[in-house]
Amino acid sequence: MLAQGRAVLVTEDPPTIQLPYEVDLPLGRQRREEEKIGDGRSILLHICCGPCSTYAIKRLREEGFRVSGLWYNPNVHPFSEHERRLASLESYVGSVDLPLIGEEGYDMLQFLRVIVGHETYGERCRLCYEMRLTRTAEVAARDGFDAMTTTLLISPHQDQGLIREIGEAVAKKQGVVFHFENLRRGWSERGRMTREHKLYRQQYCGCIYSEWERHAGVDIAEVLSELRNG
Ligand code: SF4
Repeated sequence: MLAQGRAVLVTEDPPTIQLPYEVDLPLGRQRREEEKIGDGRSILLHICCGPCSTYAIKRLREEGFRVSGLWYNPNVHPFSEHERRLASLESYVGSVDLPLIGEEGYDMLQFLRVIVGHETYGERCRLCYEMRLTRTAEVAARDGFDAMTTTLLISPHQDQGLIREIGEAVAKKQGVVFHFENLRRGWSERGRMTREHKLYRQQYCGCIYSEWERHAGVDIAEVLSELRNG
């Protein structure tokens, strides 16, 4: 299909394609899709930004979960960008009646201390996922949620396999279930919903490193190598 131009490759791992047309699913598959796997259970959804929350909230509700959101993103720099993304999310969750838990404070200093020495893309992202998902698991356990998950699972720019691995590990430690599903199939719907609700669309992932890479096209691994070689 890719060779014939009948689909667009979204990510190679896991393999995800996007079709430019609607597909009628076989009846058995449709039934499975319609099963209410949430079954009224409560789930805490870690939310990275308004756009990524759109499809995730809709999908989890369709599955029968009682969804609450958690904003905990000390990786978003500078503070004004953090506040802009949060304000956009607050306006969206208000419009869809979603309870949002906002953790006190802004842990930018803690984030930077964890990342120093691990600034390359991928290495720093592992630590970033761990920090955000650990807090999510702690809040889920503290507030008695049945399960937790994260909007990070929708982005083709994030390492979905690693997010799943970390999510399951930190959730287990707190005695909470990590709910995994490949939200990437909703990536195009996320775009449509973001435009429909006129949500703020950020231009970089979040941290100062990603902002530098995005706007100056630098390769931090190369910069670090030059530093090491004097
Ligand atoms: S690029 Fe994104 S996921 Fe990676 S460390 Fe920065 S904010 Fe976190």
